[in-house]
Amino acid sequence: MFKGRINDFILVAAILLATFWFQNLWIQATQVANIPYSEFQTLLKTNDVDNLVVTDKYIRGDFKQERSDKKKQFVTARVEPDLVKDLEGSGVSYTRQVESTLFRDILSWVLPALIFVGIWIYFARKMYDKGGVGGLMSVGKSRAKLYAETDVKTTFEDVAGVDEAKEELKEVVEFLKNPEEYSRLGARMPKGILLIGPPGTGKTLLAKAVAGEAKVSFFSISGSEFVELFVGVGAARVRDLFEQARKQAPCIIFIDELDALGKMRAPGMISGGHDEKEQTLNQLLAELDGFDTKSGVILLAATNRPEVLDPALLRAGRFDRQVLVDRPDKIGREAILKVHLKKIKLHEEVNIEHIAALTPGFTGADLANLVNESALAATRRKSVIVEEDDFLVAIERIVAGLEKKNRILNPREKKTVAYHEMGHALVGCALPGADKVQKISIIPRGIGSLGYTIQRPLEDRYLMTKQELLNKMSVLLGGRVAESLIFGEISTGAADDLVKVTNIAEALVTKYGMSPTLGNMVFEQQQSPFLEGAYPNYPHREHSEESSRIIDMEIKKVIEEATVTTKKILEANRDLLEKGAKLLLEKETLAENEIKELTRDLVIPGKESPRKGPELTV
Ligand code: ADP
Ligand code: MG
Ligand code: ZN
Repeated sequence: MFKGRINDFILVAAILLATFWFQNLWIQATQVANIPYSEFQTLLKTNDVDNLVVTDKYIRGDFKQERSDKKKQFVTARVEPDLVKDLEGSGVSYTRQVESTLFRDILSWVLPALIFVGIWIYFARKMYDKGGVGGLMSVGKSRAKLYAETDVKTTFEDVAGVDEAKEELKEVVEFLKNPEEYSRLGARMPKGILLIGPPGTGKTLLAKAVAGEAKVSFFSISGSEFVELFVGVGAARVRDLFEQARKQAPCIIFIDELDALGKMRAPGMISGGHDEKEQTLNQLLAELDGFDTKSGVILLAATNRPEVLDPALLRAGRFDRQVLVDRPDKIGREAILKVHLKKIKLHEEVNIEHIAALTPGFTGADLANLVNESALAATRRKSVIVEEDDFLVAIERIVAGLEKKNRILNPREKKTVAYHEMGHALVGCALPGADKVQKISIIPRGIGSLGYTIQRPLEDRYLMTKQELLNKMSVLLGGRVAESLIFGEISTGAADDLVKVTNIAEALVTKYGMSPTLGNMVFEQQQSPFLEGAYPNYPHREHSEESSRIIDMEIKKVIEEATVTTKKILEANRDLLEKGAKLLLEKETLAENEIKELTRDLVIPGKESPRKGPELTV
């Protein structure tokens, strides 16, 4: 704003000066008569002039009487040097003036030049402000200052309902408070922590709270800000951001919407790397590799689309820790409501627990919005105190919007999901070798099916035995089998699971040579796009239609085998399935210890030995 004012001032001044200059010219042209010296001498003799100003080169003066052509003044080139003698005795007042060419020069040369420069600067600035060509002059330098916050007021108190994420981040706070201590003990902090969760669950808020708790500066930048930049500017900005952050260590760098910047690079792009985003991403990767947590800088990032991130970002030593910031369950919602209700006047009879129960699927942002809407509803009916009815009105409004976005399940759907998830969990607990179950949840999530299995290092999967793969398939099938067992009907909810099951079965048969019929033989598969860019294509080997048919049959057989296992387990534990699903419906989420408690009486078909504790996940 200030810069804009200076610009305006320059422009106005230039216009004013230009006006004076032209006015001056105009007066000279209209009012000043240019007369020959001889005429001046005549006029002097007839005593018709006055107020002479005599310089070395000319004489200026007034006519005593306005001439017929309205001219009041005259100038004449000075011819004879002994003018003074003529003037003496004529009775005309006269002054001598040493001609100052400087002033005239300024007026006639410097001023117009200044005016043009002024106008030029004005337009150049204007273009710069619009991010035009002028913007290149200052390639992202010191922009990061704009994003640095030194006195962050947000604390963990302001973030509720995401206790697991908070717990993980507490360690970071401890580290930032005391980086020397940590590095002295040789403990290594993860370099980058990625907060994953649907929009509005408080990722940005959490990152800020970490800075607020640790009382360090908070550098934040949003991935989407890089998108429209010129080639090279984004990379420069990343470099600059890290440089500034290092100077202010200990501090936090927070990259919001990492997915906008860290999208998977297009595979197989010829000579790639010219794309702006790619350059920026490469710079980010370079910075990540280059910095040491000992310097006291911690990198946080947030995304709601982890599946599109470039795998390079998630490799060890980069964003190697992922923290899930999920939609809150009932208890979480109650806690979040309490945080936001502090700001309004609440009727003492309002039952917060009840409101939390009415708002499944709401995120922190939705709940903040709900509190605000309720306060508005109260205002509309001219009350200063917010009552429960105001909440009901507001919930109705918000729910309508969320239903459109598919975030709220009706009770029947919810029941189906509860049995489905419980099916996964029970099979998971009964079979060893799949991923660890930490939590079962029936809260709809945008990034739902990815849940806890997202981005596990690929290497893990290559080291699995056939039995483990089969077990994994059985767990994935648990959802569908539970549905059909309880409702006698199946739903589309298992689509994602089935894709995974089929993929595993296909890999088992065609890639790992684990099918007894086909033996140790590998068949060409569609290569993952990730590999395509990096390696030359493997030699193409056709297989016969006969083989194709056998492959399909084998895949089917493998899946069937896994399904039989799943059925056996769930049929043997039907009571537990019912009990668990009901508990899940009531609580929405079950934590690891609750799952352990629930599955104490789990029956494992064909196995007498005591089983291990819960180990597997959805
Ligand atoms: P995200 O970055 O995950 O999209 P934000 O952190 O921007 O979400 O959250 C938006 C707003 O919603 C916050 O400013 C806060 O008012 C509210 N909010 C979201 N999550 C929570 C939470 N867990 N506790 C309290 N308030 C929350
Ligand atoms: Mg955000
Ligand atoms: Zn499922």
